[in-house]
Amino acid sequence: MLAAWLGSIGGTVFFGASAVAVSLWPEHAPAESAVETLVRCWSVLSHTAAPGITAAVAGAVTVALALAAIRTTVVGRRHTRESRRVRTYHREVVAIVARSRGDVMWLDHPLPMAYSVGGRPGFVVATEGLSACLSAGEREAVLAHERAHLRGQHHRIVNVCNVLAEVFPRVPLFAAAPTAVTTLVELTADQHAARVTSPATVRSALTAVSASTLPRPAGTLGLSNDTSLRLWKLRIEGRARWPWLSCAAMGTVSMVGPIFTVLAGAGAVSALVCT
Ligand SMILES: [Zn+2]
Repeated sequence: MLAAWLGSIGGTVFFGASAVAVSLWPEHAPAESAVETLVRCWSVLSHTAAPGITAAVAGAVTVALALAAIRTTVVGRRHTRESRRVRTYHREVVAIVARSRGDVMWLDHPLPMAYSVGGRPGFVVATEGLSACLSAGEREAVLAHERAHLRGQHHRIVNVCNVLAEVFPRVPLFAAAPTAVTTLVELTADQHAARVTSPATVRSALTAVSASTLPRPAGTLGLSNDTSLRLWKLRIEGRARWPWLSCAAMGTVSMVGPIFTVLAGAGAVSALVCT
């Protein structure tokens, strides 16, 4: 599911930018044969349209693309600054009161909680309450979950989704992505933790940690999101036989699928309008 979302988002950005590039190309655009139907249809329409309409459309598209690129850069830089602020805060402030053991910063607090802070290198913050309230296996499951976030670059993926949602709030795919992708990275991290320990251990660790009332800092990923969905998923979890193959297949299908839909739609439109 996560691969499908990322494939759809990547495909939309790539093909959206390609469509603008093709419309602005001075002569015969690259890959024109693949979109020959569209180009022929467009040339029929542009020859029958008022003079200057092609230039006006091309100009408007260029301005829209430039504005989107500028806004993406501005919003992206703001999100990057915010992530850096969270990282710096943890390195400089939390490091003073926490004991660092390996890649985990341990806070002296009786309630169980853990979260991960992305970056190079990222790190995990956990409370001593994890050791006091959870079994050794459950504690290992919590840490494996947080390490999966760091290894999978989940913070960066969620960040990119947040930027796209802010820049293109009217594109439904981008608007829905932050919520859906945040949930899916939690499920992915749970899967990883279940492989390191067991689904039952992750379930009991999740139940114990989600009962904790400690708040999780903004800009971090923790164990306590969407608990009921995640408990249900861990209960029905079947082990994927070829996880990498299924990820690659889902990513490819979600990227390539829309091409066939568009070509079929363009073929139908040109058959009706342009013949
Ligand atoms: Zn998490």
